[in-house]
Amino acid sequence: MIVAIASGKGGTGKTTVAASLTRVWERPLVAVDLDVEAPNLHLFLRPEIEESGPAWIETPVVDESKCTHCLACSALCQFKAISVMGSVVLAFSEMCHGCGGCIAICPEKAISAGKRELGEISRGYAGNTEFLMGCLRIGEAMSPPLMRQVKSRMKNIIEASGRDAIIDAPPGVSCPAVNAVMDSDVIVLVTEPTPFGLHDFKLAWEAFSPFGKPMGVVINRAGVGDREVYSFCAEKGIPVLAEAPYERAAAEGYARGRVIADLSPEFRNIFVSLHSKIFELAAGTLHKEAAHA
Ligand code: SF4
Ligand code: SF4
Repeated sequence: MIVAIASGKGGTGKTTVAASLTRVWERPLVAVDLDVEAPNLHLFLRPEIEESGPAWIETPVVDESKCTHCLACSALCQFKAISVMGSVVLAFSEMCHGCGGCIAICPEKAISAGKRELGEISRGYAGNTEFLMGCLRIGEAMSPPLMRQVKSRMKNIIEASGRDAIIDAPPGVSCPAVNAVMDSDVIVLVTEPTPFGLHDFKLAWEAFSPFGKPMGVVINRAGVGDREVYSFCAEKGIPVLAEAPYERAAAEGYARGRVIADLSPEFRNIFVSLHSKIFELAAGTLHKEAAHA
């Protein structure tokens, strides 16, 4: 099973939930940080990194001596990353999404594959949990190509070892967030009971609902703000899988890079229960009354 932990906005406690779930997960697991623009799951899980290396994307290199300026490449590229201007072909590597279309379509075989560094992929272990992380190169604008490579590594691990996966997804509802949740079996949205939390939670729910995947919510910092998030969940039939109370101990633990589930038996029980409810949600056996704590 692949579980994506997502949120409509940053700072809701998404990584806190992902790290704590990792601690209580009973089956073999790979924890994946797909928040490649700002990965921080490793700060909580503190894995031993066994391998780390650059990730590349293929970008076009044009041999002007072979080019007949037929315009086929520039007509194909949806991203305007290659352009024919008179007798000159310009390839804009930073705008290239690495689809390889222009290389394939060139009738003169004038385009070959160069490369651009996207960032770095690291793999290791946090205890028995395998750990995978993508980290986007500073200045690199495109995270989905790096995310696809991390997901490909994740799928190889799942196929080879039968592990479940917990994905710490990027916040928001733009392309990277959608990319992170689209291959999951279950989506867990993390929000907080405030007007800001509700606003972005609604956006996330609307963005991810079309996938038709089982989806539930964890309400972090329960007790602050108002009850509007609960009303929205009741109205839409979104199960509340867990509530993590707003407590000073949690905030201090977070500031020290502690996993919240490790702080006390009470916190651990919250995530043990969440773990059970995720499996019930995936199996379609979650009772709504039990889910709305
Ligand atoms: S497709 Fe090939 S031959 Fe045609 S303009 Fe592009 S590089 Fe030149
Ligand atoms: S590889 Fe794809 S995205 Fe990149 S320049 Fe060629 S057609 Fe455009």
